[in-house]
Amino acid sequence: MTDQNSSAALANQVQIIGGGLAGLSLAAALGTAGIKTLLVDLEPPLPEDPYQDAKDNRTTALIQNSINLLNACGAWAGCEEYATALTVMRIVNLPRGKQKYPSSTDFDSREINDSPFGFNVPNAVLRRTLCDRLRKLPAVTHLTSTKMERLEEGDNGYTLTLSNGQRSIAELTIGADGKNSPSRKDVGIKSMSWPYPQTAITCYIEHSKSHQNVSTETHFPAGPFTLVPMTGKRSSIVWVEETSLAKKMLALDEEDFTKKLKEKIKGRLGDVKLFGKRSGFPISAMLSNSFHANRFALIAEAAHALPPIAAQGLNLSLRDVAVLAELLIDQNNKGNDLGDSQLLAEYDRARRLDVVTRLAAADGLNRFASNDSAILHKVRDLGLSAVRNFAPLRHFMMKSGMTSPLGTPSLMTGKEIKNKANVAKVI
Ligand SMILES: Cc1cc2nc3c(=O)[nH]c(=O)nc-3n(C[C@H](O)[C@H](O)[C@H](O)COP(=O)(O)OP(=O)(O)OC[C@H]3O[C@@H](n4cnc5c(N)ncnc54)[C@H](O)[C@@H]3O)c2cc1C
Repeated sequence: MTDQNSSAALANQVQIIGGGLAGLSLAAALGTAGIKTLLVDLEPPLPEDPYQDAKDNRTTALIQNSINLLNACGAWAGCEEYATALTVMRIVNLPRGKQKYPSSTDFDSREINDSPFGFNVPNAVLRRTLCDRLRKLPAVTHLTSTKMERLEEGDNGYTLTLSNGQRSIAELTIGADGKNSPSRKDVGIKSMSWPYPQTAITCYIEHSKSHQNVSTETHFPAGPFTLVPMTGKRSSIVWVEETSLAKKMLALDEEDFTKKLKEKIKGRLGDVKLFGKRSGFPISAMLSNSFHANRFALIAEAAHALPPIAAQGLNLSLRDVAVLAELLIDQNNKGNDLGDSQLLAEYDRARRLDVVTRLAAADGLNRFASNDSAILHKVRDLGLSAVRNFAPLRHFMMKSGMTSPLGTPSLMTGKEIKNKANVAKVI
């Protein structure tokens, strides 16, 4: 980590604005390949306790391809102790009208192969592991608690002005600064966004019964209520609720909040106790008109954002990271300009269809699952029954949730990232 205060401009090959999980992962991929990278990270380094002190109290369900990428970046081993296998995904449709019992369907990963759907990891653990990895990469300068104040276009790329008084230049600037991306606005890339009348309440619980590695998504009229297994007898909760009600829930004292939680969990996990804090995330979707401009690229939530349904968001964003990192590593190995306009256009082309189809699916699924209409309720029941009784359909759905029909970026297939400088030394 570098903390100098100097007026001389930092010079790097790539500069990344935003140290969310996507920006950190891209810095780790590029740094592993020996590409000189600056990461401007507004957040402070994390305290040691991955649960209690976490600013971000969410977990991420990572599919195997995303884990392969983190492994290639040298940032998976540190997560393993806190990672929980996701073996079964259970979808529950509540009873309505004269129905007495809910209908539910299990998607069991053991029906299609030996490995689980993926692993659930606290975001704080992912951040800590990625920050540790960056510390070990001489090619990366990671400036924590630092803001990008201004972005100015010059002949050879963008100059950043940082909150610590430093300026920075690079062949390529990457916006990884989240949904409201200041860099996207400064560069002038237009986007469209649409809010939903929903907020996701997140928290962790401890419970007396084992979760048996089953993740349960129950469809309530206001939105899904999801229990995702964590290590031991713990689970993380994503409770999508109508926004004004979510605010009321978040304002309740711990005892009353836990009572409301228990009503949703319906005894599935035995006795339940809240641990850590609660947070609320207003839900919206967003799509940038372009993922690139002159010597500039957008990744992850700075380029696209989805409602948090079916654990897609970061997995989709890590595919941006894998595709862009691979293009940049190849270009660097050839000794070419990393801000090349054809490379950036290729990145945009490679990502757009995957992003648009996942965004449309998540939007449709959110509207379909969060609806009190009797007809849609019946359609959901029929759908679940078809999936429950017709194994090929169930297997197809499981496989398409774990892979992209558009192909898997090679850095997500188990391929290593080679550092050209290290390879030369070995030879
Ligand atoms: C409730 C919930 C549950 C989810 N569960 C899952 C899941 O199970 N699986 C999954 O794949 N996805 C999930 N997601 C989605 C996932 O969490 C997001 O896609 C991911 O966290 C976004 O990461 P990011 O790095 O793109 O953006 P962010 O995390 O928003 O990071 C952007 C960073 O840029 C920084 N920044 C902004 N402006 C500046 C500036 N001027 N200078 C410097 N830095 C700046 C911000 O401080 C921030 O740190 C979930 C989302 C929600 C809301």
